[in-house]
Amino acid sequence: AAKRGGRGISRFYEPGLGEDGSTRPDPGAELAAGLARGEFTVHYQPLVDLRTGRAAGAEALVRWEHPTDGFRPPDTFIPLAEDTGLIAEIGAFVLRDACRQAARWTRPDDDGPAPMVTVNLSAQEVTDPRTVEQVRAALAEAKLDPYRLVLEITETVLMQDREAATRNLRDLKALGVRVAIDDFGTGYSSLAYLCTFPLDMLKVAREFVDGLGRDANADVVTRAVVDLAGALGLLTVAEGIETAHQQEHVAQLGCDLAQGYLFSRPVDAETVLAVMTGEAAPAGVVVPTA
Ligand code: C2E
Ligand code: MG
Ligand code: MG
Ligand code: MG
Repeated sequence: AAKRGGRGISRFYEPGLGEDGSTRPDPGAELAAGLARGEFTVHYQPLVDLRTGRAAGAEALVRWEHPTDGFRPPDTFIPLAEDTGLIAEIGAFVLRDACRQAARWTRPDDDGPAPMVTVNLSAQEVTDPRTVEQVRAALAEAKLDPYRLVLEITETVLMQDREAATRNLRDLKALGVRVAIDDFGTGYSSLAYLCTFPLDMLKVAREFVDGLGRDANADVVTRAVVDLAGALGLLTVAEGIETAHQQEHVAQLGCDLAQGYLFSRPVDAETVLAVMTGEAAPAGVVVPTA
């Protein structure tokens, strides 16, 4: 067993060495190397307008294609990226790609609103003042209307460092971007921040969608959340729609937009381009008859 605490211990436990002395890659270094090798990409999952059945935009979701292990889900490396500080680089990469892609999403014969792109911000990005400059640069480089960029943050992040988050969000909002609460209802929920923070959109967590029609409380809570958001002038998005029944249910509750495997899994940039330009319809959509 390892001797604890001695100064000389690093001689035997170099980062990158396993406990038996074998080489085991340091996860942080591996992440940095993966970034340098260009193993990261961004996939996009369409958001569907429940009234028209048309794509209203898409969420950017980062992907790591590891050379030997294959696909690694973001939940496994975003926390590591935060611990190692690499999140700033990953975040900037996703922001640039998202703005560049969204700039291509134009529908020639359409006078409706141009599709939005949503980007997830991690806890550190929400409080890091450099994020404002990263967002500004990504918008400028892509010449994207800031209104078309929506930044997704979780409620827990908002509550962790209220002051820094408030300051940063105000500066971000000044750029003209919109802000969404992601996974609403699953974190440290406080209705107070709905008044304090300048929000535009509320994404109702999959957990609620799952319970619709099965759990009477899920119905009541979801309806109340959608009504509240509507009264505050926020757009509502239902996350994790997998069945036509769930789609009908959230539409009936008054949700504006929906997202989920029923319509589309997250897909690569070229595939989503066809959906956003109207060449391909998001699958699974039943357009309501007027
Ligand atoms: P999220 O932002 O809540 O994203 C939604 C997740 O639910 C995505 O997982 C998506 O693929 C998945 N999903 C979508 N529709 C359905 C459905 O119908 N059923 C089910 N079961 N799942 C569905 P993904 O891509 O693995 O991302 C997981 C989380 O990782 C995201 O949750 C987000 O918090 C984080 N993440 C992803 N990309 C980024 C990024 O670029 N930056 C940061 N900071 N975090 C990211
Ligand atoms: Mg999200
Ligand atoms: Mg979510
Ligand atoms: Mg999530």
